[in-house]
Amino acid sequence: MPRPLLATIHTAALFNNLSIARRYAPKSKVWAVVKANAYGHGLNRAFSGLNSTDGFGLLNLEEAVKLRELGWAGPILLLEGSECIIDINIIDHYSLTTTVHCDEQLRMLEMAQLSKPVNIQLKMNSGMNRLGYVAEKYYAAWRRARACSSIGQITLMTHFSSAESASGVQHQLEIFEHGANGILGARSLSNSAATLWHPHTHFDWIRPGIMLYGASPSGMLAAIQGLGLQPAMTLSSELIAVQTVEPGDGVGYGSIFKAQERMRIGIVACGYADGYPRCAPEGTPILVDGVRTRVVGRVSMDMLTVDLSLCPSAIIGSSVELWGRDVLIDDVAVACGTVGYELMCAIAQRVPVCSE
Ligand SMILES: *Cc1c(COP(=O)(O)O)cnc(C)c1O
Repeated sequence: MPRPLLATIHTAALFNNLSIARRYAPKSKVWAVVKANAYGHGLNRAFSGLNSTDGFGLLNLEEAVKLRELGWAGPILLLEGSECIIDINIIDHYSLTTTVHCDEQLRMLEMAQLSKPVNIQLKMNSGMNRLGYVAEKYYAAWRRARACSSIGQITLMTHFSSAESASGVQHQLEIFEHGANGILGARSLSNSAATLWHPHTHFDWIRPGIMLYGASPSGMLAAIQGLGLQPAMTLSSELIAVQTVEPGDGVGYGSIFKAQERMRIGIVACGYADGYPRCAPEGTPILVDGVRTRVVGRVSMDMLTVDLSLCPSAIIGSSVELWGRDVLIDDVAVACGTVGYELMCAIAQRVPVCSE
């Protein structure tokens, strides 16, 4: 018998969430961000839900080529660009748009022999301090890119560090406007948080990721309530055993949970080797037999244990939702002190996936 653990991808939810991004930024085109195997949802499956986008943003060439093989003929953006001259020829061959964030990448394009000019996004470091030209060096970089015969259209781009929090985008936006002052060309600034909460940053191309998967950019569930976003993934399993424990009995490794009274414990086929966080503390929400209950005891490699006090009819084979439409991934993430991004990306290879 196969393990009952399953990740179900809701194609219609992806479609719905993309249309919500469009509703928020009606004048902008959309780079649907599908890096990290579409945030763990699988590139193929994400593609069928998101193929009404204008373009796809992702990290590496393998993913880009896979999209072309799936039949996507539209724009594909490499969000970090490329570090090697061989890649430039692949970028040319597959007509990809590439990010240029430093002189080394510019130099490679200057030296390349291409079949046609490649479109680029010229990245400014407006305060994130990871990739990009600082504002003072941006104009010179743009001039140099403009003069390069291997470069076609140049989109001006930056990335926000705190669009989901109270510090917001204003400071970075001012730095961007200052560095890009006087440069004509399309602009791309907004991640999901800026798409939802900072309409003056939308410009020509937005770059939503997490919202397409129905989770919150801030790790705060309240932030996205009422927006109509739908979870794009359900991680489900079943009870594979039930134990009755007496007061004082421990459960699982380290016996970190001790029963206060006689109670039933359900054993769920899902553990940290599947991507469920080992750090999930007692009380992390989980749905058993349609009832919201809690994880108790330490998450093991292949199993975790739940309190069945509220689920008297639960038996072996009862359904479990680890996260999905009832237990939102953000609920689990908050309990674990992380964000939905990390949980969805961590779904392990061994978890079977289906879509609907
Ligand atoms: C990942 C990424 C995004 C999407 O961010 P979300 O917070 O998931 O919306 C946008 N732009 C760049 C450059 C990224 O790396």
